[in-house]
Amino acid sequence: MVESIIALGTNLGDRVGNLRRAIEMIGRKMSLVKASSVYETEPMYYKDQDWFLNCVVAVETDLRPHGLLRELQAMEMKLGRKRTVRYGPRVIDLDILFYGNEVISEPGLEIPHPKIAERPFVLVPLNEIRPDLFHPVLGRRTSELVGNLKFGAEQVIKRSGLHVDLVS
Ligand code: AMP
Repeated sequence: MVESIIALGTNLGDRVGNLRRAIEMIGRKMSLVKASSVYETEPMYYKDQDWFLNCVVAVETDLRPHGLLRELQAMEMKLGRKRTVRYGPRVIDLDILFYGNEVISEPGLEIPHPKIAERPFVLVPLNEIRPDLFHPVLGRRTSELVGNLKFGAEQVIKRSGLHVDLVS
């Protein structure tokens, strides 16, 4: 079993429901170890869209990285994800952030996810559950990466009232 970290994001429809459904689906295919709080975050890149809800989950899986990606993409489809504008509104986005300490660099799959260090909406929730996780390419722990963010961490707001329960 390998620990992988998956990032979830949604800014369309019933956002809390989308996170809950996605986590439930993930829990059917692998074991959920830990989930961060839910955070509301300002859109990056493509600004003219609603704010996102984001969280990250740690899972343990026997799936290999490509199999894991395929499963997550099938879940995105089931949840009604349609591909429109790049970085635009989405019912659900599931990204593999880490897969153990493996490094994969292929056109269709990069692990660790290449944008971790610039994304407050990933680093802030990740820092909540895995502050000591060592990034095998950047050679830094999550807590150091979040400390290096130039701006944006203030655009990531913890929604303490929202809980996404781990389904056992
Ligand atoms: P997105 O629009 O963010 O869902 O990006 C989807 C594309 O990113 C897919 O075609 C994946 O093959 C590719 N991709 C590359 N690395 C990753 C990763 N670590 N996690 C998820 N998708 C990835």
